[in-house]
Amino acid sequence: ENYHALLGENRKLFNEIQDLKGNIRVYCRIRPFLPGPREKRTSVEHVGENGELVVADRSKPGKEGHRLFKFNKVFGSDATQAEVYSDTQPLIRSVLDGYNVCIFAYGQTGSGKTYTMTGPNSSTKENWGVNYRALNDLFDISQRRKSSITYEIGVQMVEIYNEQVRDLLSGDAVPDASMHPVKSTSDVIQLMGLGLKNRVVSATALNERSSRSHSVVTVHVRGTDLKTGSALIGNLHLVDLAGSERVDRSEVIGDRLKEAQHINKSLSALGDVIFALSQKSSHVPYRNSKLTQVLQSSLGGQAKTLMFVQLNPETSSYSESLSTLKFAERVAGVELGAARSNK
Ligand code: ADP
Repeated sequence: ENYHALLGENRKLFNEIQDLKGNIRVYCRIRPFLPGPREKRTSVEHVGENGELVVADRSKPGKEGHRLFKFNKVFGSDATQAEVYSDTQPLIRSVLDGYNVCIFAYGQTGSGKTYTMTGPNSSTKENWGVNYRALNDLFDISQRRKSSITYEIGVQMVEIYNEQVRDLLSGDAVPDASMHPVKSTSDVIQLMGLGLKNRVVSATALNERSSRSHSVVTVHVRGTDLKTGSALIGNLHLVDLAGSERVDRSEVIGDRLKEAQHINKSLSALGDVIFALSQKSSHVPYRNSKLTQVLQSSLGGQAKTLMFVQLNPETSSYSESLSTLKFAERVAGVELGAARSNK
């Protein structure tokens, strides 16, 4: 009842409450320009405080090529790793309360997916991506709760390439990936280091495979209430998706074509699943790809989903950025027409 009273009084608050209740959130992050003699003209026209983003097609005069998109949040190119994570933290906390959570990074190759999820190569704590910060928080919070609940935390890491799942922590192709108990952030850093190394090894052998495969870190959390003995189980999936760039079919053949087809298929299957969930559809098509099968437990039901939509800032990436934004708009359950403006 209070909620309804507030609703009439305060539209903004209502929107915020809706935001917190929604199980699917989409955050957009714009990569900064990289150093060196590269193009420095941007297609990003405006980043609003309430999740508005205006991108511009520079081939059109004036404001003709402007398009407005709306997300739960947009992080401009100056956002720090800590700022990006601070809005993610409540989701991580909920894993310890028994929720399933799935966090994705989506975008073309080079748009900062790995940067957001893992961090830069030689990562200091300040540059840690979502993965390390999330695990670090899980340990911190579980420590603070230890007088009432004891937690066990385990990690799996797999790569999905051409619809095949490979365990990055044991190197095998597997139906069930190996589970590794972890007790501290340094355990996690060591394990993920091993997983990333296994991913890179195949990357050099197979033509930058890392951008052509999805990597999935799964964190299993099991809490036991010391008083009642009851169990709390939560899963966290941290997903660095394959590059979403469209490959010109007339230009690739053989293995590259096969890769491209598998990536297309799995990303559209993912889009279909999230869209079905956002529409509260009675049929959710999980079976259409390995990716959606692997993630099924943390998509739908009570599970919470967050997608980072990564954009390259350059004008030359405009058409890829636009197709990324359209994917995002669809999964966010927003009508394309309604969110667009030609100011
Ligand atoms: P992707 O995983 O989408 O292929 P990367 O995460 O590898 O892209 O990012 C491409 C390059 O841009 C890397 O050199 C990365 O360090 C850099 N980069 C990406 N995002 C940022 C950022 N927010 N700040 C600084 N450098 C970034």
